[in-house]
Amino acid sequence: MRVLLVEDDALLGEGVYTGLKQDGYAVDWVQDGQMAEIALNVEHFDILILDLGLPKQDGLQLLQKLRAKGNPIPVLILTARDSLDDRIKGLDVGADDYMVKPFDLEELNARMRALLRRSAGRAAPKLVHGKLVLDPAAHEVRCNGAVVDLSPKEFALLQTLLENVGRVISKTKLQEALYSWEHDLASNALEVHVHYLRKKLGSGFIRTIRGVGYIIEPDNVIHT
Ligand code: CA
Repeated sequence: MRVLLVEDDALLGEGVYTGLKQDGYAVDWVQDGQMAEIALNVEHFDILILDLGLPKQDGLQLLQKLRAKGNPIPVLILTARDSLDDRIKGLDVGADDYMVKPFDLEELNARMRALLRRSAGRAAPKLVHGKLVLDPAAHEVRCNGAVVDLSPKEFALLQTLLENVGRVISKTKLQEALYSWEHDLASNALEVHVHYLRKKLGSGFIRTIRGVGYIIEPDNVIHT
């Protein structure tokens, strides 16, 4: 899952950035409203974590522009404790949720999962495909009840494919979802992760559509 974090407070930004990366998100962090707008124009992000008080362009302005353009990205705003007014304005111009500073990283994580789930059109917290169950909260995959040991990237890749069962996901889209800018992306990195996932889940589970991308088909469940 690709996250854009917009926060000008260096200490708070660093804490959230590091924490989310450890949780397996591909995070990009910018510190002003202008950079955030540029980033959102050139890349696809799955979720935006937006501070409201920002240099160059404040968060509310940015959010207004985004929604005016019809950008549906889930947005969680970060506000100060005494700013009830900002929270209400934020929600009214299109934020989906908010956190009051200082906040707990665990709670931020849980709220992000809820927003990502809703934006994927899903009410149930777990992704179930035949005997395979992926639990984003526990960061765990089970097949037939047994835990499957996956790296963070393999987990993110599987989650993206399971959220799009029946749809071919292009390599570009998968790379965008898995890697932030700073990541030194080897051209075959994605193929390597797919290779290991197949080793762990069965070779026929993820199908390659040559020249296009990858798909998990609705009727293709793991038989063991
Ligand atoms: Ca700020």
